[in-house]
Amino acid sequence: MKGMHNKLLSADLSVQSSAESTIDAEKLTGYLGGRGLGVKLFTSLVNPRTDPLSPDNCLVFATGPLTGSIVPTSGRFSLVTKSPLTGLILYSNTGGSVGPALKSTGYDCLVVRGRLDEPCYMLVSEGEEPQIIPCRDLWGLDTLETQNRLESLGLGRFHSLMIGPAGENGVLYASIMNDGNHRAFGRGGSGAVMGAKNLKAIVIKVGKAKPDIDNPELLTTYVKSARDKMKVAPITNSSLPMFGTAGLLNVINELGMLGIKNFQVGYSHEAENLSGEAIREQIFEKDEGCYACPIRCGRMTKTQSMNGKGPEFESLLLGTLTSIFDLVTVTEANYHCNLLGLDTVSTAGTISCAMELREKGALNDDRIQFGNKDILIPLIEDIAYRRGIGEELASGSAQLAAKHGMPDAAVHVKGMELPAYDPRGAIGHALGYATSNRGGCHLTGYLVSMEVFAAPKKIPRASTGSKADLLVLKQHQSAIEDSLIVCKFAGYALGFDFYSRFATAVTGEDLNITRLMKIGERIYNLERLFNVKAGLSRKDDTLPKRFLTEPLSEGLSKGRTVPLDSMLEDYYRLRDWDKTGAPSRAKLEELHIKP
Ligand code: SF4
Repeated sequence: MKGMHNKLLSADLSVQSSAESTIDAEKLTGYLGGRGLGVKLFTSLVNPRTDPLSPDNCLVFATGPLTGSIVPTSGRFSLVTKSPLTGLILYSNTGGSVGPALKSTGYDCLVVRGRLDEPCYMLVSEGEEPQIIPCRDLWGLDTLETQNRLESLGLGRFHSLMIGPAGENGVLYASIMNDGNHRAFGRGGSGAVMGAKNLKAIVIKVGKAKPDIDNPELLTTYVKSARDKMKVAPITNSSLPMFGTAGLLNVINELGMLGIKNFQVGYSHEAENLSGEAIREQIFEKDEGCYACPIRCGRMTKTQSMNGKGPEFESLLLGTLTSIFDLVTVTEANYHCNLLGLDTVSTAGTISCAMELREKGALNDDRIQFGNKDILIPLIEDIAYRRGIGEELASGSAQLAAKHGMPDAAVHVKGMELPAYDPRGAIGHALGYATSNRGGCHLTGYLVSMEVFAAPKKIPRASTGSKADLLVLKQHQSAIEDSLIVCKFAGYALGFDFYSRFATAVTGEDLNITRLMKIGERIYNLERLFNVKAGLSRKDDTLPKRFLTEPLSEGLSKGRTVPLDSMLEDYYRLRDWDKTGAPSRAKLEELHIKP
């Protein structure tokens, strides 16, 4: 397929060997690239019952046909593995420039399996066998120190993936950071998988390989038109460039659906202390963007004692979930998470769970109280190094709350802590949380984009009508965005028809919207099938009890709970999944998936 090199690099760390192979045309046309291709390769390599931290688990890094092209926001690439946090399939994607660097080596995908006897990093270069280089001196360094040390080695121009101490110490929600403390494969614990392999970093030297594009002239025309649209759409032209993703905070708070005090509350007048506007006014240094992105939503920021990137909207959970509305503390907590290689969402959800346990008398540690800003950064460090109470927190909120006899204090779906949108405020989004293949995730369906941000059009956020239908479409659309692969934020300006045009001009395949949506459905069902074989069933498609039974007590979402059962019935019928939660045989046949 054009747009891809059709080449895969596989490395087995246990025997320190590597092999290059051709990717079947059928896999590419059936799954495109990125998440889809990653899921297809991963599910053919890894037994669903595999221990995520064993050598048999694989890390599959996959670019898509648009990665590294001139299409706006096409700097992204995907990772698929088995999550140690959920025990389910984990798909994740990251921006920055590492994806285009991988593509420039002449490979579309990199598969890593096995385990090294000692800490090493991997060096990937165009036209050369990958090298495995011992690096005991890097083990224990934070992500920025690691990046600086790699830069001092005279490796030429490169981009990198790395873990911090949290990944080395097997924290179940450790992230893989890229280029130091910048962007991340944030969710689900891929950093712990890399740490279990003794792999500190993957260094990708920038090469010269470029895949063929089927119709470059047409692609240029489409790109110009897309950029023109992005220049006039308010979110991509003004809100994201000016305030970053944190610009969402005031809107979500005003709607009474911001995750506050471990989701016991949906609105706080103090939350605006952490808003995108406050960040701009008090700590902003400059904007920053991923490869080929005209939006540049990233914030480089500075406090009196530290500097770094962010916080993003979701990372502000470090303040809202803990009721710590102090911008400097939250910003520095976010920097620490990045340096230590921790997912900020799960870190926040686990700490706030501990705070609720202490508030309700189930945890005996007087320091761990909502609003105690002095405890936030020390707790983050304790988690990364598994020190003291950090040892318990390192396994995530579900295990923590269960251990202390109060499982409902953990706000998670399938073991993964929830992002910042309280689902009682957006009912379709709630169904998305309950049915996401990777657990508590806002990006797998992202129906909040319609329920709150009217993109591409506004739908009522409190009603259940048509939510299952729309969510299924959004889940398939999202799988395609993650497979081509482009940033979700471009969707605030561009309709899905743009992605169809880009994909067709690049690959030369007739990737019309109907065909793309069928590919999205295939990806979603293959992920689901893996999860069912891993032990997931219909009972796991649910939400924390508080969202189903405890109405919000104030703000514009006051009085609401989530009527999940009726939407779930519709959802299962539309998906043709059986009572156990498995895709029917007929559905698998229709999608050409082997049972
Ligand atoms: S909008 Fe932000 S996250 Fe998306 S590609 Fe651009 S800079 Fe990266």
